[in-house]
Amino acid sequence: MKALRVEDNKLKLTDSAVPRREGEALVRMTMAGICNTDVEVARGYADFRGTLGHEFVGVVEESPDKSQIGRRVVGEINVGCGQCGLCRENDPRHCPDRTALGIRGRDGAFAEYLSLPSRNLLVVPDCVSDRQAVFTEPLAAALAILDQVEIRASHRVAVVGDGKLGQLISRVIAGTGCDLTLIGKHDAKLELAARAGVRTAKLGAGEIGLRGADFSRHVTTEVGATKAPGFDFVVEASGSSGGMEIALDLIRPRGAIILKSTFRGAVRLDTSRIVVNEVSVIGSRCGRFETALRLLESGGVDLEPLVAREYKLADGLEAMAEAARPGTLKVLLTN
Ligand SMILES: [Zn+2]
Ligand SMILES: [Zn+2]
Repeated sequence: MKALRVEDNKLKLTDSAVPRREGEALVRMTMAGICNTDVEVARGYADFRGTLGHEFVGVVEESPDKSQIGRRVVGEINVGCGQCGLCRENDPRHCPDRTALGIRGRDGAFAEYLSLPSRNLLVVPDCVSDRQAVFTEPLAAALAILDQVEIRASHRVAVVGDGKLGQLISRVIAGTGCDLTLIGKHDAKLELAARAGVRTAKLGAGEIGLRGADFSRHVTTEVGATKAPGFDFVVEASGSSGGMEIALDLIRPRGAIILKSTFRGAVRLDTSRIVVNEVSVIGSRCGRFETALRLLESGGVDLEPLVAREYKLADGLEAMAEAARPGTLKVLLTN
């Protein structure tokens, strides 16, 4: 089968064996999404070797759970050892011996077939299109924030980063009814969010401009010269090392910063700003698929506007090159 793989530190389209793991289900990929993590993994983040990809929709061809065969599914990407304390507490996402689809110790979804345990698979409701369902994993990751902090309607929340992740997160957080602002650098992206009803602010040469409703009510200052009160929560989803500095500029004393970006490289940080302002910093990764599927089923979010382009798996190298260009929205692969 065709597979888009990282081998010898290079991204290659290869002819590979169909993955078969004892006791697992075999899924024929129909659509897969390229996310920033894939781009970073191809660059060497996570030291991964193998088939890339963790966002997918597919059809089950073989499974120990016969009721799944022929069904359209998405899949939880983490597979725990099943034995350790965390796994027994139903938290395989943090199992020290876990594998993760296309990220850690397990071939991923940018291939004709992929393998996952049947318990990781969730049937996609008929009313949810492939182009929506393919967002289940990143949507779940966005929803994870709402599991980690309690955002109420009275809270002021900023999302830093107008890329794919920031777009998803701001659509999810908007559902809480809080006072939300998406902060980014790209006019077209900010317009995209504004069309979904999200207030936006442009981050320019050291300054946050106004857009939409009255932003100055909340941040009366330039970035870099923070004055109270700032935001109760700031979600850092910029995908770049500068995002944390901006988050620290925006957060109010005793507020919480939620970190969402994963990238290769380190961030230089003046931690005294965290100490002095007693800021909480919360790392946030994967979320629950059921919640995401239910939200898609309810029509509570429309993610199709986030699709940039579809490519055939055979053109996967081209697709990855497009996805790696800064500012590209969701690039999809089809089988
Ligand atoms: Zn992803
Ligand atoms: Zn475990």
